[in-house]
Amino acid sequence: MNDTINHINFDVESIRKDFPILNREVNGKPLVYFDNAATSQTPRQVIDVIVDYYTNYNSNIHRGVHSLSQEATDLYEQARLKIQEHVNAKYNHEIIFTSGTTHGINLVATGFSSLLKPSDEVLVSALEHHSNIVPWQMLCERTGALLKVIPMNEEGELVIDTYENLLSEQTKLVFVNHISNALGTINPIETIIKKAHKVGAAVLIDGAQSCPHIKPNVQELDVDFYVTSAHKMCGPTGVGMLYGKEEWLRKLPPYQGGGEMIAEVTFEKTTYADLPHKFEAGTPNIAGGIAFGAAIDYMNKVGFDVIATYEHKLLEYATAQLLAIDGLKIYGTAKEKTAVISFNIEHIHPYDIGTILDKMGIAVRTGHHCAQPIMDFYKIPGTVRASFAFYNTKAEIDALVQGVKKAKMMLS
Ligand SMILES: *Cc1c(COP(=O)(O)O)cnc(C)c1O
Repeated sequence: MNDTINHINFDVESIRKDFPILNREVNGKPLVYFDNAATSQTPRQVIDVIVDYYTNYNSNIHRGVHSLSQEATDLYEQARLKIQEHVNAKYNHEIIFTSGTTHGINLVATGFSSLLKPSDEVLVSALEHHSNIVPWQMLCERTGALLKVIPMNEEGELVIDTYENLLSEQTKLVFVNHISNALGTINPIETIIKKAHKVGAAVLIDGAQSCPHIKPNVQELDVDFYVTSAHKMCGPTGVGMLYGKEEWLRKLPPYQGGGEMIAEVTFEKTTYADLPHKFEAGTPNIAGGIAFGAAIDYMNKVGFDVIATYEHKLLEYATAQLLAIDGLKIYGTAKEKTAVISFNIEHIHPYDIGTILDKMGIAVRTGHHCAQPIMDFYKIPGTVRASFAFYNTKAEIDALVQGVKKAKMMLS
């Protein structure tokens, strides 16, 4: 039963049985889902946890003395511990539940408004998702600080020498994604963090694309902030996490005011709750948080080492097969990359390829992938992006390659 693509002990067919959606057809063809970098599919083990919540113990957390509320609170806090363990944070109060990566970044960017002055500088990388550019632009507009960009090269890698030159005593913050969603480049974040700390700058890593493939070790990385979304790693949409070092989370002001985040409220003065609740105003996505924990359990059971090895084999196979197509160019050829292939075919618009692939039941992403500056760098309107997950197969890649060949024939 083992897929022939790998010599590791990985039974992809039995994994696929956990994902009900993989049984469906699209346009009369079996679904081939290659849009995993936009959102991953959800295994039954996670879906069951959501159904169980609303069926058996739906109630508000942290407030009720009644049993349902206590059950929900216990499970929600257990999920926080699972996330803490997953990223190896020192304290569980360093894990803040958010609605996703975008929320986490905005929380930090807004918090820094009171910490920056006009002579300060903020560095972002040229490989960023829009959600990791716009909040920093807004922060710089509010504070007068200067936004500078760490450039990329033709391969889609960051130019570390230039990064070193950009760093100075003025640099207060550096923001880089761990893995680029548009190109799959794995950035050398250990080096980036070390160099930033030498000048006293804090670092936020956008882990939206890394968490589905790599288990981050925030203590070993010595990173100041790390954010991710559950829906990119087999969890539900609308929930994610922000890891922040305790000292930073104490320094930052609360992001939103409301219930849950206060210790005491009078009209004269309100005191804020301790971490993590200071940053968790209002009723959170309770079912989502618990399901996030279940998604981490699920991925750990499959095993991150096995996932990385298997996906790398898929990447190598798909890269070779696609490059054999005349006129096809792959964007993002970094030495270190995950299972994302961004490509175009000469003289054909990516959107047209995507539309034809959809007719064959193959889901890819086309466009700028929320990373317009990268497309500008290559002087292209966008790409076709196929992004793989551990539940994808070699046979699905064959279907993609056949589909692309057919699209090319129809469009040229
Ligand atoms: C998906 C993604 C985001 C945004 O995540 P949301 O869940 O939409 O908040 C940010 N950065 C990267 C690299 C992403 O892939």
